[in-house]
Amino acid sequence: MIRKLKYYGDPVLRQLCKPVEAITDEIRELVRDMLETMEAHHALGLAAPQVGVLLRVFVGCVEYEDEKGEVHAGKPWVYINPTLKNPSEMLVERSEGCLSVPKLYLAIPRPMSVVIEAMDVEGNLFTRECTGYLARNVLHENDHLNGVLFFDWLKGKRRSEVEPHLRLIKAHYSKKS
Ligand code: ZN
Repeated sequence: MIRKLKYYGDPVLRQLCKPVEAITDEIRELVRDMLETMEAHHALGLAAPQVGVLLRVFVGCVEYEDEKGEVHAGKPWVYINPTLKNPSEMLVERSEGCLSVPKLYLAIPRPMSVVIEAMDVEGNLFTRECTGYLARNVLHENDHLNGVLFFDWLKGKRRSEVEPHLRLIKAHYSKKS
């Protein structure tokens, strides 16, 4: 089932998510729905709070970034209770967007690489070494689990320039729901 998206202005996007205690039918259904919702929106990732669920779960389908900087999507991965380790000190800036913040694309500085440990939907722990856009993908989605949105990483003038667009999104989507 495709779930309804939550948009900027909805307080659910600013909450801290709780860990998943056990892989239950409810969690399996959530994951299935999140994968379906991500696919329906042709997105590269989706985190549980974006469908209104405050659990530490996200999905992503970035496979790798090639030498030319092209992003390749592949089979979707499920990350439950993820932890991030060893973010590179080196940051790279690249444009990203978010389903919950429509039509806003911003160059965001993020670590070039990071290691993620998480559980899949069968309950198996795995480690994945992420570089380039894959690192960006997991860092962006993981931020959602802590109530952080991508433009939060911008400072000063660049941050304040985003404000008018955010106000429009808030006004538009708060009327709808
Ligand atoms: Zn997002």
